[in-house]
Amino acid sequence: MGEKTWDKILKELEPTVSRPNFATWLKPTELSEDQTGIVTIAVPNPYAKNWIEKNVLTKIYELLRAEIPNIESIRIVVSDQVGRVARHKAAAEAPLFEETEEKIEKETNKEVEPLFNERYNFANFVVGNNTRLAFAAAQVVAEKPGEAYNPLFIYGGVGLGKTHLMLSIGNEIHLRFPKKKIIYTSCETFTSEFIQALQNKTINEFKHKYRTADVFLIDDIQFLSNKEGTQEEFFHTFNMLHQANRQIVMTSDRMPREIADLEDRLTTRFGWGLIADIQAPNFETRLAILQSKAKERNVEVPMDVLEYVANLITNNVRELEGSLIKLETSARVENVPITKDFAKQTLKVMGNQSEGQFSTKQVIKTIAEHFSLETSDLLGSKRTKELVYPRQLVMYVLRENLHQSYPQIGDALGGKDHTTIMHGVNKITKLRKTDEQIESDINAISKKLGKV
Ligand code: ADP
Ligand code: MG
Repeated sequence: MGEKTWDKILKELEPTVSRPNFATWLKPTELSEDQTGIVTIAVPNPYAKNWIEKNVLTKIYELLRAEIPNIESIRIVVSDQVGRVARHKAAAEAPLFEETEEKIEKETNKEVEPLFNERYNFANFVVGNNTRLAFAAAQVVAEKPGEAYNPLFIYGGVGLGKTHLMLSIGNEIHLRFPKKKIIYTSCETFTSEFIQALQNKTINEFKHKYRTADVFLIDDIQFLSNKEGTQEEFFHTFNMLHQANRQIVMTSDRMPREIADLEDRLTTRFGWGLIADIQAPNFETRLAILQSKAKERNVEVPMDVLEYVANLITNNVRELEGSLIKLETSARVENVPITKDFAKQTLKVMGNQSEGQFSTKQVIKTIAEHFSLETSDLLGSKRTKELVYPRQLVMYVLRENLHQSYPQIGDALGGKDHTTIMHGVNKITKLRKTDEQIESDINAISKKLGKV
């Protein structure tokens, strides 16, 4: 009874929430009801519970009332027995609802040393709306490597916690399953190892190393762009691992389809599991991160200073952290208390240099001036050579320096299609390597923007 009712309700909920939200929070759940009208929804982790309570509980209640007229209340319990895999097991096999946390406690092997820097863990990652999905997915993957989302693809701007989450997955899996072979590499390292293996004729060792991983964590996969040979090798590695249900986790600064010159067969595969994005944190989350970091470092920082910093640095957690360290060390050296005025003085330069401090408008204006054009020329749609190149430079700078998405840049340029932007960025990226004129234009523009 429970299963049928629940399936029906899930079907009704599905169109009302986003696809990843549905897949992450709602799909792996189960419902049961008892005689007295108490309905229990079992969810795989505390984050799912939290999300459901916050976003869809009222709706669920309404829908359930139509199905179960005598419904008294809804209980949400966390259980590691739920989910696709559990569904196929005999229902009677095990008590269905068991609190996971106790169980994890028992299974966790306290003797095991962390595999990667121990500061990369789930506990000190501050979860805000910007990271909720990625965080929950990372936890699920760490609990059930190879079973839940494969691959897990995390994307987001620079310094927003992608590597942190990825290495937390690595550390957590290592703790739970010490025997699993976990490989972490950056895409750049993977590429250079591959090239070296070709040169040294050690390609078999190279293949063996990666293809025998139980968990393969590969960071900054956008660097596969334009690298045909490495893409080919990665494709085979991916297939071997995926077919054997080995967990693959990737990070990128952009979505799979935004990675220029990436083979279609890879773009498709990157979307097979779950694609989770990380956005810049909002003010409250930035403040929470600062508080958590101050606590971690054991420094007392007054609230007004934290608020000042949270307002100053808006789109990069690494810089947020960096400014706190800077305050801490400067205050120690100068032997003064950390006050708001002191913070203003100390971080003034930082605020100016910080990425994102010059605006989209400034970029367009600076580039227009550099070529003695009007801003409106760049925003228009005339496609003469004199205009196309400067426009592509705008795309390039917005992409590389401000880390904007292609659609975002398209909007800034008066409503251009994201494929046009992708093409433009790609072209400048390629030509910059060989064309000295482009290099010198970019340098001149960067100087004018105050970024050398
Ligand atoms: P990315 O890989 O996205 O460029 P990182 O994972 O290297 O970013 O994060 C940059 C720094 O900020 C790291 O020191 C990381 O620990 C910290 N950090 C990022 N996001 C968070 C967060 N939500 N909570 C706590 N620390 C964070
Ligand atoms: Mg990173």
